[in-house]
Amino acid sequence: MKLKVLTIPNELLREVSKEIKKEQLQDKDLQKLFDDMIETMKAEDGVGIAAPQIGQQIRAIVVTLENGPEIYINPEITKRSLRKQKGEEGCLSVPELRGIVERYQSICIKALDRHGNPINLDASNLGAIIFQHEIDHLDGILFIDRAKNVYQFE
Ligand SMILES: [Zn+2]
Repeated sequence: MKLKVLTIPNELLREVSKEIKKEQLQDKDLQKLFDDMIETMKAEDGVGIAAPQIGQQIRAIVVTLENGPEIYINPEITKRSLRKQKGEEGCLSVPELRGIVERYQSICIKALDRHGNPINLDASNLGAIIFQHEIDHLDGILFIDRAKNVYQFE
Protein backbone atom coordinates (compact mmCIF):
# COMPACT_ATOMS: atom_id res chain seq x y z
CA MET A 1 0.00 0.00 0.00
CA LYS A 2 1.31 3.41 -0.96
CA LEU A 3 1.51 5.74 2.03
CA LYS A 4 1.29 9.49 2.29
CA VAL A 5 4.72 11.16 2.39
CA LEU A 6 4.98 14.02 4.88
CA THR A 7 6.39 17.24 3.49
CA ILE A 8 7.95 20.34 5.02
CA PRO A 9 7.15 22.12 7.28
CA ASN A 10 5.63 19.09 9.07
CA GLU A 11 7.30 19.01 12.51
CA LEU A 12 7.33 15.19 12.59
CA LEU A 13 10.16 15.36 10.05
CA ARG A 14 12.25 17.15 12.69
CA GLU A 15 12.03 14.56 15.46
CA VAL A 16 14.78 12.14 16.42
CA SER A 17 13.54 8.62 15.70
CA LYS A 18 13.70 5.72 18.15
CA GLU A 19 15.80 2.56 17.83
CA ILE A 20 13.92 -0.58 16.83
CA LYS A 21 14.34 -3.56 19.16
CA LYS A 22 15.18 -6.86 17.50
CA GLU A 23 12.01 -8.48 18.95
CA GLN A 24 9.86 -5.83 17.26
CA LEU A 25 10.93 -7.23 13.88
CA GLN A 26 8.67 -10.26 14.55
CA ASP A 27 5.68 -7.93 14.31
CA LYS A 28 3.67 -8.48 11.13
CA ASP A 29 2.42 -4.89 11.06
CA LEU A 30 6.00 -3.61 11.17
CA GLN A 31 7.03 -5.93 8.31
CA LYS A 32 4.01 -4.68 6.33
CA LEU A 33 5.14 -1.13 7.02
CA PHE A 34 8.57 -1.96 5.52
CA ASP A 35 6.86 -3.28 2.37
CA ASP A 36 4.74 -0.13 2.23
CA MET A 37 7.84 2.05 2.57
CA ILE A 38 9.41 0.32 -0.45
CA GLU A 39 6.17 0.58 -2.43
CA THR A 40 5.78 4.27 -1.56
CA MET A 41 9.38 5.05 -2.52
CA LYS A 42 8.98 3.29 -5.88
CA ALA A 43 5.65 5.00 -6.58
CA GLU A 44 7.30 8.38 -5.92
CA ASP A 45 10.35 7.51 -8.07
CA GLY A 46 12.70 7.80 -5.11
CA VAL A 47 15.95 5.92 -4.45
CA GLY A 48 15.54 6.05 -0.69
CA ILE A 49 13.01 6.76 2.03
CA ALA A 50 13.11 6.93 5.82
CA ALA A 51 10.34 5.93 8.25
CA PRO A 52 9.79 9.47 9.62
CA GLN A 53 8.80 10.55 6.10
CA ILE A 54 5.71 8.38 6.39
CA GLY A 55 5.04 9.55 9.94
CA GLN A 56 6.77 6.72 11.85
CA GLN A 57 9.48 7.89 14.25
CA ILE A 58 11.50 4.68 14.14
CA ARG A 59 15.01 4.05 12.83
CA ALA A 60 14.28 2.26 9.54
CA ILE A 61 15.35 3.36 6.07
CA VAL A 62 15.15 2.04 2.53
CA VAL A 63 18.22 2.46 0.33
CA THR A 64 18.38 1.40 -3.31
CA LEU A 65 21.75 -0.03 -4.34
CA GLU A 66 22.65 -2.13 -7.42
CA ASN A 67 20.61 -5.08 -6.13
CA GLY A 68 17.49 -3.03 -5.60
CA PRO A 69 15.83 -1.53 -2.51
CA GLU A 70 16.58 -2.96 0.94
CA ILE A 71 15.42 -2.12 4.45
CA TYR A 72 18.11 -1.15 6.96
CA ILE A 73 17.23 -1.10 10.67
CA ASN A 74 19.07 1.13 13.17
CA PRO A 75 21.70 2.11 10.57
CA GLU A 76 24.90 3.71 11.85
CA ILE A 77 27.91 5.10 10.05
CA THR A 78 30.98 3.42 11.57
CA LYS A 79 33.66 4.87 9.25
CA ARG A 80 33.85 7.93 7.05
CA SER A 81 36.34 8.67 4.28
CA LEU A 82 38.45 11.81 4.48
CA ARG A 83 37.42 12.53 0.93
CA LYS A 84 34.12 14.28 0.34
CA GLN A 85 31.97 14.66 -2.76
CA LYS A 86 29.40 17.20 -3.84
CA GLY A 87 26.18 16.02 -5.41
CA GLU A 88 22.71 17.27 -6.26
CA GLU A 89 20.03 16.04 -3.89
CA GLY A 90 16.28 16.18 -3.68
CA CYS A 91 13.84 14.68 -1.23
CA LEU A 92 10.27 13.37 -1.36
CA SER A 93 9.56 15.48 1.73
CA VAL A 94 10.93 18.66 0.13
CA PRO A 95 8.99 18.92 -3.13
CA GLU A 96 10.30 20.90 -6.08
CA LEU A 97 13.63 21.83 -4.49
CA ARG A 98 17.13 20.58 -5.20
CA GLY A 99 20.44 21.49 -3.67
CA ILE A 100 24.13 20.70 -3.78
CA VAL A 101 25.25 18.86 -0.67
CA GLU A 102 28.75 17.83 0.38
CA ARG A 103 28.89 14.29 1.79
CA TYR A 104 31.54 11.71 2.65
CA GLN A 105 32.54 9.87 -0.50
CA SER A 106 32.64 6.47 1.15
CA ILE A 107 31.34 5.17 4.46
CA CYS A 108 30.97 1.92 6.39
CA ILE A 109 27.47 1.09 7.60
CA LYS A 110 26.38 -1.13 10.45
CA ALA A 111 22.68 -2.08 10.60
CA LEU A 112 20.25 -4.96 10.92
CA ASP A 113 18.32 -6.36 8.01
CA ARG A 114 14.52 -6.64 8.30
CA HIS A 115 14.87 -10.09 9.91
CA GLY A 116 17.31 -8.89 12.56
CA ASN A 117 20.51 -10.22 10.98
CA PRO A 118 23.53 -7.95 11.34
CA ILE A 119 24.76 -6.19 8.22
CA ASN A 120 28.10 -4.48 7.66
CA LEU A 121 28.64 -2.87 4.32
CA ASP A 122 30.73 -0.29 2.53
CA ALA A 123 28.99 2.27 0.37
CA SER A 124 30.57 4.81 -1.92
CA ASN A 125 29.54 7.49 -4.40
CA LEU A 126 25.73 7.49 -4.94
CA GLY A 127 25.14 4.68 -2.43
CA ALA A 128 27.03 6.64 0.24
CA ILE A 129 25.00 9.76 -0.52
CA ILE A 130 21.69 7.91 -0.16
CA PHE A 131 22.70 6.34 3.17
CA GLN A 132 23.85 9.68 4.59
CA HIS A 133 20.68 11.43 3.38
CA GLU A 134 18.36 8.76 4.83
CA ILE A 135 20.22 8.41 8.16
CA ASP A 136 19.96 12.21 8.52
CA HIS A 137 16.16 11.83 8.36
CA LEU A 138 16.31 9.62 11.47
CA ASP A 139 17.90 12.53 13.32
CA GLY A 140 15.44 15.11 11.99
CA ILE A 141 17.93 16.57 9.50
CA LEU A 142 16.94 17.46 5.93
CA PHE A 143 19.27 18.03 2.95
CA ILE A 144 18.22 21.70 2.86
CA ASP A 145 19.93 22.10 6.26
CA ARG A 146 23.24 21.02 4.72
CA ALA A 147 22.95 22.36 1.16
CA LYS A 148 25.06 25.34 0.23
CA ASN A 149 22.45 26.45 -2.29
CA VAL A 150 18.87 25.37 -2.78
CA TYR A 151 16.99 25.98 -6.01
CA GLN A 152 13.64 25.28 -7.65
CA PHE A 153 13.46 22.24 -9.86
CA GLU A 154 10.76 21.42 -12.41
ZN1 LIG B 1 14.85 12.73 1.99
